[in-house]
Amino acid sequence: MTTKAFGAHAADQPVVALDIQRRAPGPRDVQIDIAYCGICHSDLHTVRSEWPGTLYPCVPGHEIVGHVSAVGSEVSGFKVGDTVGVGCLVGSCKHCASCDEGLEQYCTNGFVGTYNGPTADAPGHTLGGYSQRIVVDRDFVLKIRHPAEQLAAVAPLLCAGITTWSPLRHWNAGPGKKVGIVGIGGLGHMGVKIAHALGAHVVAFTTSESKREEARKLGADEVVNSKDAAQMKAHAGSFDFILNTVAASHNLDAFTRLLKRDGTLCLVGVPEHAHPSPNVGGLIFGRKSIAGSLIGGIAETQEMLDFCAEHGIVSEIETIAARDIEVAYERMLKSDVKYRFVIDTATM
Ligand code: NAP
Ligand code: ZN
Repeated sequence: MTTKAFGAHAADQPVVALDIQRRAPGPRDVQIDIAYCGICHSDLHTVRSEWPGTLYPCVPGHEIVGHVSAVGSEVSGFKVGDTVGVGCLVGSCKHCASCDEGLEQYCTNGFVGTYNGPTADAPGHTLGGYSQRIVVDRDFVLKIRHPAEQLAAVAPLLCAGITTWSPLRHWNAGPGKKVGIVGIGGLGHMGVKIAHALGAHVVAFTTSESKREEARKLGADEVVNSKDAAQMKAHAGSFDFILNTVAASHNLDAFTRLLKRDGTLCLVGVPEHAHPSPNVGGLIFGRKSIAGSLIGGIAETQEMLDFCAEHGIVSEIETIAARDIEVAYERMLKSDVKYRFVIDTATM
């Protein structure tokens, strides 16, 4: 089925309107008419080949919300008209140890990303949510229980929400824990909201003084300008856990220094250029860890969506027309977004 989409034909070409083909739904498929799709920094990294391996044409987008418009004969969990979401995953082997534990993002046989992943569909790689419609295996479709008027603001939960939820839960952010969130962008602002809702004492680290007041409204108990050495020093040795969402290369020692003994700095940002090698002594003297975390599994994504619906949590968004995606990218690169751009699919 011919479907309108926005994507790029090459790394040095802008994101423009193009037509793509979607498969007819198979027995286990759910066809979704997309209402909104968030713009993740990973979209920009991918579409501009800042990471290796981008296949073109590239249609990004993995913060998808919309309504079911058809289901296959073996689909019982969804029906036409249901409000649903799709995140970063549309497939995995379903039988490895990770898949068995509901951690499809760590599938040892390789998960299928919502874009730039392997597929039998033309053109041989998956095409994402900057499009009017998508067809997805039922096992990778999420139920959305937020009020209908919040739908656009729910979209970013499908990546920014789960990518912060998963490590915050894994490292037990909650009452009695001091938790830092570094970089108050799309991921970071969700991290602040979620860590606050989980009951942790939350400190937001930002390079943008203009975000200070808002970070408090998002749920931060304290806000630190990470460029100010004195403000940083005041928190030395005090954190149980720090989640670093920064999308650019920077000195990690500034944050490992703030950890308590046995504390963890978890990286989720994947910058184009590597971070300078961290100071190993700083880790050894304190048994500190630098860790990483990748999005989240399907079951925990549903758990996060339900938690957010229950606690009234959505993303802070600026809705844009599809023709303005490149403008949004340039603003995202300047940290000039509060805090996630979301494409209104009706503008395609
Ligand atoms: P974003 O909206 O651009 O936010 C990144 C934030 O980092 C900015 O708002 C800014 O916050 C801060 N920042 C930017 N440049 C900086 C610099 N040079 N030094 C220090 N801080 C800087 O991006 P996003 O969509 O949240 O994504 C963040 C990163 O996570 C990207 O690399 C993305 O690819 C990655 N990601 C990873 C996963 C995963 O599963 N691990 C999933 C999704 C995304 P302040 O203004 O507050 O300083
Ligand atoms: Zn993302």
